[in-house]
Amino acid sequence: MPRGVTTVTPERHQQLLQRAVDLAEQALEAGDEPFGSVLADAQGHVLCEARNRINSVDATQHPEFELARWAAQHLDAEARREATVFTSGEHCPMCAAAHAWAGLGPIVYASSSKQLAGWHKAWGLENPPVAPLTIEQVAPQVHVSGPDEKLARAVHELHGRYRERVSAAGNGEP
Ligand SMILES: [Zn+2]
Repeated sequence: MPRGVTTVTPERHQQLLQRAVDLAEQALEAGDEPFGSVLADAQGHVLCEARNRINSVDATQHPEFELARWAAQHLDAEARREATVFTSGEHCPMCAAAHAWAGLGPIVYASSSKQLAGWHKAWGLENPPVAPLTIEQVAPQVHVSGPDEKLARAVHELHGRYRERVSAAGNGEP
């Protein structure tokens, strides 16, 4: 099967992307930033799930990075190449690099890094410490699709709730 081609139906595709957004909401409810990701095989079966843990563990605990590490440790090269990551937000450069080094297949995201940067700007936040490069800039061989208009709105709402919590706490932490 050529790289990037899966047998997942459009319905299953949408379910997996929705699941990533649900995991982002779980992260928010646990006090972490709302990001969630699902690793699925070529048939659309879930292999592993992860959510952001930047406040509960440390600042490098992005779900996409966790899935890349899990895949490197648990799947052979062919299974990694056929696996797709469905994620609530486009990979940051750290996670895009980990995805590519692990030799994983396509990425499907609900909201883009460009959208997130626009939301952050509208909320008056400072620039992040890492350059907002796209996945294509960091990992040009990875097949990427997104954003999803409807789910991007849901992700925007989750990030809005996170920001409200951070400003209510007044110390930069939720
Ligand atoms: Zn990341």
